[in-house]
Parts: sequence; C-alpha cells; structure tokens
Amino acid sequence: MAQRIRINVGGTLFITQQETLTSYPNTRLARMNTKMTEYDATDGTYYFDRDPECFASILSMYRHRELHFPKYVCAMKMRNEMQFWGIPQSYMSRCCWKTFYEVDEDIDILDKLAVSSDGKASDVESKNFKERVWVFLDDPSSSQAAKIWHCFYLLVVFVSCLVLCLETVEKFRVKPFIRHVSSNCAQHMPTTHRKVAIKMASSYCLDASPAILYTEAACVVFFTVELLCGLVICPSKKIFFKNFLNAVAVIATVAMWCCLIFEFNKEILASSNRMVYLHAALKFASVLRVLLFFRLAGIFNSLQVLLQALKTSARELLLLFVCVVIATMVFGVIMYYIEFPSESSMNNMFISMWWAVITLTTVGYGDVVPSTILGRLVASVCSVLGLLLLALPVAIVVSNFAEYHRRSKDKQRHLLATCGLRQKYMPRNNIGTILK
Ligand SMILES: [Zn+2]
Repeated sequence: MAQRIRINVGGTLFITQQETLTSYPNTRLARMNTKMTEYDATDGTYYFDRDPECFASILSMYRHRELHFPKYVCAMKMRNEMQFWGIPQSYMSRCCWKTFYEVDEDIDILDKLAVSSDGKASDVESKNFKERVWVFLDDPSSSQAAKIWHCFYLLVVFVSCLVLCLETVEKFRVKPFIRHVSSNCAQHMPTTHRKVAIKMASSYCLDASPAILYTEAACVVFFTVELLCGLVICPSKKIFFKNFLNAVAVIATVAMWCCLIFEFNKEILASSNRMVYLHAALKFASVLRVLLFFRLAGIFNSLQVLLQALKTSARELLLLFVCVVIATMVFGVIMYYIEFPSESSMNNMFISMWWAVITLTTVGYGDVVPSTILGRLVASVCSVLGLLLLALPVAIVVSNFAEYHRRSKDKQRHLLATCGLRQKYMPRNNIGTILK
C-alpha cells in the first residue's frame, strides 16, 4: 500500500500519497522527510503556516500535472506561495496566464503614475517667506490663492496666444505710427507673386494695431517678471532649469522680446530676406508659449494620465506610421501605373503618393483624382484600408488611456484612505518627468 502523507497547511489538513509528491522531484514537497522541523511525530503530520487556498491549487498540480489557481486569489499571493513551495512560474498553465500576469501590468502602470516627488514644492516645510512664495508659484494645489494665481497665469497665456493670431488679421493692422517706415518697403520684399506681395506688405510694412501691440508687450513683461521671480525664489537653480516648462518659458519669452523689438524696428525686417526668415523663426519659437498650457496638468490629473497613455502607446503609434508609409508607397506606385495611359493629373510618382497619403488619412482634398475605372476601384480599396489603418491604433491608445485612468483613480482613492489627504495635485515640475 502506498505511503500516506498528512500535511496541515494553515489549519487545513491535506492527505496525499508519497509517490504523488515525488512527481516533481525538485520541489519542497518532494523533499519532505520526517527529520524536518515541520514534522510532528505525535500525529505523523507536517505543519506549515502557509495559505491553504493556494496550497490546494499547488497540491492539485502534483495530481493532475497542471497548475491552475482560483481567479479570486491575487496573483501576487500565488507567486509568493509558489516561491515557498519551490515551484517555478513556468509551470503555470496557459489558461491562467491572463490573471497571473495581468498584475504585472497593473503594478507597471502604478509605478509609472507614481511621479517622482523630486523638487516638489509643496513638500518643503514652509518656513520663510522665500519658500512660501516658491510653493505659491510652483504648486497650484498649495492654497486657494495659488489656484487663482495659476488660473490668471493661464488666462495671460491664452490672451498672448490670441494676440499672436489677431496680429496676422489684415483688419487689425494699421499704417506705421511708431516710427516712419519707407512706404515702398513692399518693393524691397523679394517676391514675384502679387498675392504674396500683398501679404508680405501687410505683415512687414504695417504695424499691428496699438491695442494689440501694447497687450503683447504687457504679456511679455508679465512672463518675464514671473520667470525672474521663479528664478530668484527657486531654492535650486539646477532644478529650475531642468524643468521642462521653465525651459519652454525661457525660450518663448526671449523669442517674444525679439519679436517685439522687430515690431518696433520694421526697417531691419524689410532690409533682407534673411531677416524675414529670422523673424519667422522667432515667431515660431514664441508659439512655444502654447506649451505653457501644460501647467494645467497640475490642475487636471487626467492630462497627466493622457500623456502617460500616449507615451505607453508610442510603439503602436510608430506602427501606425510605418503602416501608412508602406500603404502610401504601394498605392502610390499602383496608382501611377494604372493612371499612366489616361489624362490624369498624376504626372509623377510623388504626386500619386501624395494622392495615396491624402486618401489613406481620409482627408481627400480632391486636387488629384483617378480617372480610369480600375483607378477608382483601387481608390475605394485605399480609402477603406485607410479607415481600418487609422482605427486600430486609436483603439489601442484609447484602451491604454482607460487603463491608466482607472489605475490613477484607484491610486487617488488609496491615498485618500491611507493619509486622509485631499487629492494631491501634481506640481508642474513633474510634467517634465513625463515628457522625458
Ligand atoms: Zn487555468
């Protein structure tokens, strides 16, 4: 008769046979003997203070040579028990992989959401005036006044963006009033096209209306003062310049100052082509101020979650890009040869590829169209394929976002339960950590 083995795990008695346990020789159960400290000779039972639920699953592995575990048991607990009983993770059956490995993803997401608290202003014990001002400037959640201040800051960013756009509207441009500019400066502009000449004359020979100009100047002064205050007050200059949003603010402010100087010295601008390009580059740099809206991330937790989800989906987005490139090449080449004998506007392969990318992305300008029946058939396939191609990665990004959003909610609830803290907002320092 086979030798019976009595094992008591966490108060539950399991009875099995010696030969069942020896089926996995390198595990703790197979190596059990009566000399072990867990063996009690009085009732011939091995005592282990471990989890009986997990042990039932593990013992059943010895019987059926398959390892499964109940879905309601946390995978982490199961792992710990498996480690104790000397069972490698590779023994887990495929049907239980989802539950067994899902926990890794959850922990991964929570780790990513655990933004570093380096340089978190609100962590500083507010002792002196300087530190209190820094907390005020850096962390919108530190006080009601700080919240109002940040809202006002965002309002100024919005106004300055609005001004940037209004400047280009012809209605808001007036005859130079600040300094005399030679009225025929448009003639200096290197261009041949009449429409372009008018646009250039409007941009470079007329001034923005005084209201716009002074609003812009006020915004620049505001940004400069805010930046200088932050720089003076920040306890560590290194942290200040390492911060992504501060770097953006510095570049945008410098560019805005340069643009303003140009605005008051139109002659320089009209003097050469190179200056026009420099001015365009500076304008572009000053548009970076739009990024200052990311300070909102400090107020809206979801924005942080969205950025994190996008970052996680980078591979899928790259896949989308590669697929679009491949499809563009394939459809472009096919279309070129189909339309070759007809009087189509696809004169070369680049034009047919342009057509392919515009069709695939469902934009469809209609400037280049196929004229043959076969061409139209291929175009239909191309546009339907474009729909599918765009829909798939979007779904992945959305599901990532939902996953992150749920985890971040869990985390907030946990924080609320453990510390009784009000919802901790993320100071703007951390947005740099995400964008890195
Ligand atoms: Zn299973």
